[in-house]
Amino acid sequence: MIDTHAHIFLEDYSDDIQLIINRAQECGIKHILMPGIDTSSVDKMDALITRFSGQTQFPRLHPMVGIHPCDVLTLAEKDPLWLDRLYNMLLEVGSRKDIVAIGETGLDYYWSTDGVDDQKRSLEQHILAAKALGKPIVLHNRESTADLLEIIEAHQDGNLRGVWHCFNGSLEEGKRAIELGLHLGIGGVITFKNAGVAEVVANLPLRSLILETDSPYLTPTPFRGKRNEPSYLSYVAEKLSLVKEVSTEEVVDQTSGNARMLFGL
Ligand SMILES: [Zn+2]
Repeated sequence: MIDTHAHIFLEDYSDDIQLIINRAQECGIKHILMPGIDTSSVDKMDALITRFSGQTQFPRLHPMVGIHPCDVLTLAEKDPLWLDRLYNMLLEVGSRKDIVAIGETGLDYYWSTDGVDDQKRSLEQHILAAKALGKPIVLHNRESTADLLEIIEAHQDGNLRGVWHCFNGSLEEGKRAIELGLHLGIGGVITFKNAGVAEVVANLPLRSLILETDSPYLTPTPFRGKRNEPSYLSYVAEKLSLVKEVSTEEVVDQTSGNARMLFGL
């Protein structure tokens, strides 16, 4: 299995990261992709990668570079030249061979709509950098679907690839995203009763889906409410196999193949 979205470089794991990695290995996680959230993320990922390099063959840890939409406002307030600097930073760090994607970026209107324009500008810089580097983007979306898809559409010239991580849209929005060249990241929310995601995903093609945990958030049932970790990806895979009425093995094979293609693993 491939966990395409896990923030295991955060302090939440500083006490027991070795156990987290051991459990991921035991449950067959081959790759863990780590999305950036702020300007300090890549250093933390590098430290983690160094620590575990040579220790185990799997899981292999992969860094990304990006600024989470909820962190954009602090960046914009501190520096009038932030947009240029952001683009240059994404291009410079993103050109590293081991950086598998540009993200996470996107829009989040849940906490506040004050910084919407800055969030959109940041998203566009991430898209431009991803296209310049030929790497996929990782998109966060919360209560901002129409704007997100509109911006993707405006920039889609056949060279934009990526994932709508933690997909939570309607069937129409899911189909639209796939038409626009995006994959959909399926995580713990598919196991939540009444979330509606399972019913929607049942009607979306497996070839466009990839698995993720979004650790430490969005922990699947039966651990909902606790800290999430990559080994819990098996609960997501099992639920998806029930929803798609195929074997867990087929879910894992297909989604892992999708993730390998998308991120060049
Ligand atoms: Zn995330």
